[in-house]
Amino acid sequence: MVPGSEEWMRGEGVEAVARTDYGTYLTLPVEADATSRTARDRKTGRRRLGSRLGWPVVRSLDEREIRSSFVNCSKGEVGRIRMPSGLGGIRWADLDYLGWTDPGAPLRSLLVVPRADGVTGLVLRRPEASGAKASAVRSTMCRVCLTEHGASGVALFVAPLAGAAGRRGNTVGEYLCADLACSLYLRGKRQPRMRLVRREETLTMEERIDRAMANLSSFVDRVTAG
Ligand SMILES: [Zn+2]
Repeated sequence: MVPGSEEWMRGEGVEAVARTDYGTYLTLPVEADATSRTARDRKTGRRRLGSRLGWPVVRSLDEREIRSSFVNCSKGEVGRIRMPSGLGGIRWADLDYLGWTDPGAPLRSLLVVPRADGVTGLVLRRPEASGAKASAVRSTMCRVCLTEHGASGVALFVAPLAGAAGRRGNTVGEYLCADLACSLYLRGKRQPRMRLVRREETLTMEERIDRAMANLSSFVDRVTAG
């Protein structure tokens, strides 16, 4: 489905039920509201896309919405996930997705990504770094926002596939900003530490956000395809 296309927009704001082998999850509508960055046309009330190219924006989510979004773990594991600290004080307008590391389980990280039909949550694991072997294969560029970092700014995250394939132990991995703060790097609100060379880009911030959302969306697709 092409972002911004008719087909893409048709799913917007529609409440949907996602059925996985782990059970049924309600996916909640992501709509342009007072807290989103996407304005609605005053005359028609239709959403104006501007430079966002149709990517849905993440709106303020509460704990219930977040817990019901996870698609690649059991209900038992969902119950054990701890919410990010300061959930009530998050500046949602600065976020393209919500990402955090479980305060009670440092090797478990969570992503909640806005999609055309709601938000999709992914459980990610951080393989424990094992000395020289880990550093030899390390990437220094986040594959979502393309921010280049110093040595420890990027981490490999591994997601179990949704459904039966995931229960058999199949996973997909991606190199992401270790702090899952792509949105802040894209907006210049956080700077990579120990960055030696800055790659010059001619794209605008909005274009870089759109590219990051395309990259993130394709990662979510790989996980949910099972
Ligand atoms: Zn990133």
